[in-house]
Amino acid sequence: MPELPEVETVKRELSEMTKDQPIIEKFEFLRKDLRDPMPIKKLNLMVGARILSVQRRAKYLLIETDKGGILSHLGMTGTWRVAGRGEELVHDHVYIFLSSGLRLAFRDPRRFGIFETFTIGNEKASSRLKDLGPEPLGSEFTSDYLWTHLRGKKAPIKTALMDQKMVVGVGNIYASEALFRAGIRPQRRADRVTRADAQKLVSCIREVLQQSIDKGGSSISDFKSTNGAEGSYQDSLQVYDRKGQSCVVCKTHIRHSVMAGRSTYWCPCCQV
Ligand SMILES: [Zn+2]
Repeated sequence: MPELPEVETVKRELSEMTKDQPIIEKFEFLRKDLRDPMPIKKLNLMVGARILSVQRRAKYLLIETDKGGILSHLGMTGTWRVAGRGEELVHDHVYIFLSSGLRLAFRDPRRFGIFETFTIGNEKASSRLKDLGPEPLGSEFTSDYLWTHLRGKKAPIKTALMDQKMVVGVGNIYASEALFRAGIRPQRRADRVTRADAQKLVSCIREVLQQSIDKGGSSISDFKSTNGAEGSYQDSLQVYDRKGQSCVVCKTHIRHSVMAGRSTYWCPCCQV
């Protein structure tokens, strides 16, 4: 499943492809639904619109035009790419033809993705965007914020970090990696994270996400960017998917369990 660094990679590439602010000439819908029905009428109202920018909020990609916004989510297997003539693929669901001559394709074999409209400047009106916590790489996500929001929470710290109302975009892989670097066991109760731990955790979360963005994301579960390239951060993972292997710090075997339905990895020696 693409996580924040992967979505950020796609955002940067889409941004680059549309930096000359092309006009949307037409949409072609090869399916009427993904996880939900696509608002085809509303999308067609954006024909003739100029693309102003591409943004990311949590794991949503937001294409902003002068006639409204297009929100997409990659779900499990979604991709964006430029599809030239003759480069159609099975499971291409939407094509956007641009005045620059490019055709953008949104493809999603497993159809857990989302393709919708949203009102620019009134993101709170979108049920997808309104309850989201701060961005982990943004200025609002401070150690004070984290520590305050962990008060009174009995859930394990890893589960709390993955709650999108607390902070967005810290998915399963990055939660495990950040907790390892911060020396905090994923099972520790959220309200037993000290101020000093919270400070370490915020900087470790930022560090793992930024390092992954710098490497184009990780290509676990087949992530590919718009040009089909794979990220390489999976080679830098220190605990995730390393069950039974030696800890990079102390050589103890990495443990694994399932927490809240998600695979969780930690070093029983380095993390308390
Ligand atoms: Zn260790």
